[in-house]
Amino acid sequence: MPIEDFQPVIGLEVHAQLLTGSKLFCSCATTFGAPPNHHVCPVCLGMPGVLPVLNARVVEFAVRTGLALRCEVRRTSVWARKNYFYPDMPKGYQITQYDQPICEHGVLTIDTPGGERDVRIRRIHMEEDAGKSVHDAHAGASLVDLNRAGVPLLEIVSEPDIRSSEEAAEYLKALRDVVVYLGVNDGNLEEGSFRCDANVSVMPRGSATLGTRVELKNLNSFRFVRLAIDYEIARQVEVLESGGKVQQETRLWDAQRSETRAMRGKEEAHDYRYFPEPDLPPLHLEDALLDRVATSLPELPRPRFRRFVSQYGLPEDTAHVLTGERALADYFEAVALHVKDPKRLANWLQGELLRLLKEENALLSALRFTPAQLGELLGMVEAGTLSASAAKDVFAEMFRTGRAPRDVVAEKGLAQESDVGAVEAVVDQVLAACPKEVAQYQAGKKQVLGFLVGQVMRAMKGKGNPALVNQVLKSRLGE
Ligand code: ADP
Ligand code: MG
Ligand code: ZN
Repeated sequence: MPIEDFQPVIGLEVHAQLLTGSKLFCSCATTFGAPPNHHVCPVCLGMPGVLPVLNARVVEFAVRTGLALRCEVRRTSVWARKNYFYPDMPKGYQITQYDQPICEHGVLTIDTPGGERDVRIRRIHMEEDAGKSVHDAHAGASLVDLNRAGVPLLEIVSEPDIRSSEEAAEYLKALRDVVVYLGVNDGNLEEGSFRCDANVSVMPRGSATLGTRVELKNLNSFRFVRLAIDYEIARQVEVLESGGKVQQETRLWDAQRSETRAMRGKEEAHDYRYFPEPDLPPLHLEDALLDRVATSLPELPRPRFRRFVSQYGLPEDTAHVLTGERALADYFEAVALHVKDPKRLANWLQGELLRLLKEENALLSALRFTPAQLGELLGMVEAGTLSASAAKDVFAEMFRTGRAPRDVVAEKGLAQESDVGAVEAVVDQVLAACPKEVAQYQAGKKQVLGFLVGQVMRAMKGKGNPALVNQVLKSRLGE
């Protein structure tokens, strides 16, 4: 059977580090990049005789994410102890949730070539992160850094509803957009604050029984997610085609060699002896918390994208860029209040603003001018008192110094003459001075118009509104 006759099936498990100031069960800071073992205490070091104290913010973030993903939120969820040994986990167990997670049965809508599709979310639970083993700092020794031990994570598990590596990447992008919009995660795959494991299986197309799945780890970019899944689909088809059976196992993506390789079998990995965490009571959620979180949910990226298309008449790709980042979308809407033409504004943000931000490696939050000032600048372009190219210079100056646009325009003498009477006066002078060209034009040599426009612009020291100059010239020439 050729590979096209197999249906890939994919389910994703995402671990998202929560943007809380302190850890899940102690008050140690979660700051990234501190010297090793600086943010540790008896609780996250796993000393005997200490007790975990739940960080309420983590619960709020979990509920926020669950509601945004249209999950059912459990009024009573239960902490579980997952037992395994690893050097970066001093307690010898991880506190997580197991059979009664905080959120279940959600949905995430993704884009596919065939249109929008819903991927079901199986569950979302809270758990603590492990520390980090450092293998390359010291020859012949591995070191352990426990700054990350106890940092709160959300694990977000999809149903096996995803059907291709492209869909997997779309799902991850959509999920990342949501958690970043919610302010619960920074969405960084490369630094590992948004991590993904992919479960992959194949079955003959049309089959009702899912194949045996393999779990892929170490997928720290969207590109690797796609490459690893495609590699794994081809590998599994080959195994089946040669009469073999896919082993249920965990495989690691090797980016150097562009292949997956076996890491561990499932039997040993699964012996976690989960049991209810004896140091923490079941977690009861109050209605007040759910209400508060529900009413404070921001508009999410997908509905906002749709609204940008319908309300502002933006093309889809532009709306995608603008809503891709919440701060940029907020900024667009703040300026849109001050302009007549939201499309011009969108192009301006996408072109000039994003370009300057990138060149200066600057953040939107650090802009020196107000949305109203940018609105004022675009208003001058709309009114024809400033040319689009002069507006770019003014904008660059506003970007650097934060000066008001009208001050920059006045100082640089950039204002454009859009007064009809003033333009007509100059046009009449020019026509009187160029009888030869006027005759040529009237005899049908229309390209002479360019010369006449040039003469008018020169007389106006480049400040004539070009559209107006053209229009007045033509009407005076009898068109
Ligand atoms: P575990 O607890 O061992 O990780 P789960 O049953 O919770 O196993 O499934 C983990 C992930 O694997 C989920 O995202 C689920 O959608 C996915 N999954 C389950 N069965 C399959 C399958 N046959 N093919 C692909 N993915 C699968
Ligand atoms: Mg799992
Ligand atoms: Zn601590």
